[in-house]
Amino acid sequence: MARYTGPACKLCRREGMKLFLKGDRCMGPKCAIERNNTRPGQHGQARARKASEYGSQLREKQKMRRSYGVLEAQFSRQFDIAAHRPGKTSDNFIQILESRFDNVIYRLGFADSRAQARQLVNHGHFKVNNRKVDIPSYSVKKGDVITVRDSSKSNEYFKTRSLLLAQKAVPTWLRLNIEAMSGVVESLPARQDVEVNFNEALVVEFYQR
Ligand code: SF4
Repeated sequence: MARYTGPACKLCRREGMKLFLKGDRCMGPKCAIERNNTRPGQHGQARARKASEYGSQLREKQKMRRSYGVLEAQFSRQFDIAAHRPGKTSDNFIQILESRFDNVIYRLGFADSRAQARQLVNHGHFKVNNRKVDIPSYSVKKGDVITVRDSSKSNEYFKTRSLLLAQKAVPTWLRLNIEAMSGVVESLPARQDVEVNFNEALVVEFYQR
């Protein structure tokens, strides 16, 4: 499955804001936005021109897509699914993105970033309802039980992780069991359950223009 392999911080600098793509580093003084908040490239320091309506929609779409670490083709496919579901398209879209397996692993605190979660999923460390799932875009459903595989629990990463999990805030639509190294999807996330710092209405306008 294709993924972006370039420098993550460059994406934040292009958007002029933290997209939290690198876990703990994003919280510290080494964050590139803290050190040098200019657009990448030769003309990065030049004064930004006022964005057109299309430009604002495009930037908002890019912020959202890069935050979730999804490439364009899959992102627009997931938007189409959201648009065909009953209800508000923007809410449906956020729900679809939040329900991605890599995002759920990140939200449960098993990884510090979505990129790390994606790698853990790809390496087959998790089961959903007792069956191994190694597809980051897999969409979880209400009632799904996610567990770290027994063979992975003895791995040094997960041993250390279990000590860190208590410090992680888990969203209300998920329930974490630290002892069992498992999580349950209590409900699918509604818009108010999700803290995101972009304007999804502009993303809808971008795809419906
Ligand atoms: Fe973005 Fe994190 Fe890099 Fe800061 S450290 S620029 S938030 S990816």
